[in-house]
Amino acid sequence: MATATNPTERLSSYNPATNDLVGTVPIHGQAEVDAAVARARVAAARWGALSFAARAEELTAFRKALAARSDEVAELLHLENGKPDLEALTEVMMALGHIQHATACAEGAMAPRRVSSGLLANFRATISYHPLGVVGVIGPWNYPLFTPMGSIAYALAAGNAVVWKPSELTPLIAVKVAEIAAKAFAVSDLLQVVTGAGATGAALAKSAVDKIAFTGSPGTGRRVMMAAAERLTPVLLELGGKDPMIVADDADLPKAAEACVYGALTNAGQACISVERVYVAESVHDRFVDEVVKQVRTLKVGGDDGDLGAMTSPAQVAIVKDHLEDAVAKGAKVLTGGPAAITGSYIQPTVLTDVDHRMKVMSDETFGPVIPIKRVGSLDEAVRLANDTRYGLGSSVFAGKGARALADKLRAGMTSINSVMSFAGIPSLPFGGIGDSGFGRIHGDEGIREFTRIKSTAEQVMALPVNMMSFRQPKDAPKRLRGMIKQLYGDGVLAKATDWFRKLRQ
Ligand code: NDP
Repeated sequence: MATATNPTERLSSYNPATNDLVGTVPIHGQAEVDAAVARARVAAARWGALSFAARAEELTAFRKALAARSDEVAELLHLENGKPDLEALTEVMMALGHIQHATACAEGAMAPRRVSSGLLANFRATISYHPLGVVGVIGPWNYPLFTPMGSIAYALAAGNAVVWKPSELTPLIAVKVAEIAAKAFAVSDLLQVVTGAGATGAALAKSAVDKIAFTGSPGTGRRVMMAAAERLTPVLLELGGKDPMIVADDADLPKAAEACVYGALTNAGQACISVERVYVAESVHDRFVDEVVKQVRTLKVGGDDGDLGAMTSPAQVAIVKDHLEDAVAKGAKVLTGGPAAITGSYIQPTVLTDVDHRMKVMSDETFGPVIPIKRVGSLDEAVRLANDTRYGLGSSVFAGKGARALADKLRAGMTSINSVMSFAGIPSLPFGGIGDSGFGRIHGDEGIREFTRIKSTAEQVMALPVNMMSFRQPKDAPKRLRGMIKQLYGDGVLAKATDWFRKLRQ
């Protein structure tokens, strides 16, 4: 039975930098979540029936309305999440970019495709893409707008309605976006927000949505998948990462160091595609480390204009502290920052050397402002260590002419060459991971198709004298089939010709 919610119960959202209350939101239970999904289903029927052009017009109105209120939205991101103003505005900008891209690419990504009909030459074979209906989006607190928008924008552009459950640490930003959406879209209940803690997310995972797009930790991802399994609801899981960066001896060292510092420390290291570990060629290791430390020491922690803001969650501060203490106890050298340099929700950026894979800081997701740097004797060793992980989200390579070959050896969903995180800023590139980093893709054409159902149509355009889809076959049919099998797939002339053509095309 659906659990009723106490209407007076509210969830409070606090500013992690000051502990001041930012606002409160209702706590929605299974009954409210189910009701939202039911309303979304009505919206989905109307929205899905519109033309791409009509949907694009409304999505554009939504994007413009969000852009018009970008200062207000960024301020809320700053207050709820703790990130500095510049990072908050950057997040709004990246989210808007995805709304624009999803709007522009939906029609192309969902265009029906003719494919070869093979032996059934009298058929026209077509693949077409259709909206799923209602998509449930469960988002994290680290990029409370950009990350869920990577699913929301593409799900909407593909013709679905969305029910969004934000993290309990950052619910107000989602409520604000839903208010803006409600005014911008003519179809009501197209983008709804349900709020509460983990139980509300669990209720959404159990509800009658047609797909769940989840972003968060691997542990919660598993729970979401188990809950969704009851209804066989498909899931898209964007989970954590332990992204490696490799620096070869012919890399542009100052550029690599600058990118490393940004990639590891932006959003105070609370990014799923943060640089979490660095492998540097022996001959340039010391110079690279010196440059990284020099740059890190210039960064300002705290304040509205700081480079690094407050950590959003006290639980994450405890994880970072634990990783640092574990590393130090196992022999890591602290060059700046360190476990003693943590004050409340602020962590001084930390550079570690002499690290190895026995340490949590090299094997588990730290999700904080930490740069562990490991010296490697060869690029083969760098690749082996980079791939020695249960995760597989992002990665980066800094090298000269061998960069592309090095990148191809990394077992990850995404790789940046001579840059960090750039794959996330290119909206046409699909985003997602393998292993404990999850599966499925957001962004790009794949991100649109992720929120569609695929339909295959075989249309007979002409009847042939021999109809294989009939019980009315001549007596010698088995004999003929035996001949055909040999001819088409064995040593027959037709099989040889097909194989020859395939080789020619390679
Ligand atoms: P969590 O896994 O703790 O939470 C993610 C979301 O799931 C939150 O909205 C949370 O709600 C909700 N939730 C909690 N319990 C349940 C449940 N039983 N059923 C359904 N939903 C539930 O992750 P964090 O918020 O801590 O986010 C950080 C993690 O997200 C990191 O591991 C990071 O790497 C990953 N991440 C991955 C990205 C990617 O694209 N691959 C991008 C950004 C982050 P509540 O907060 O209210 O408990």
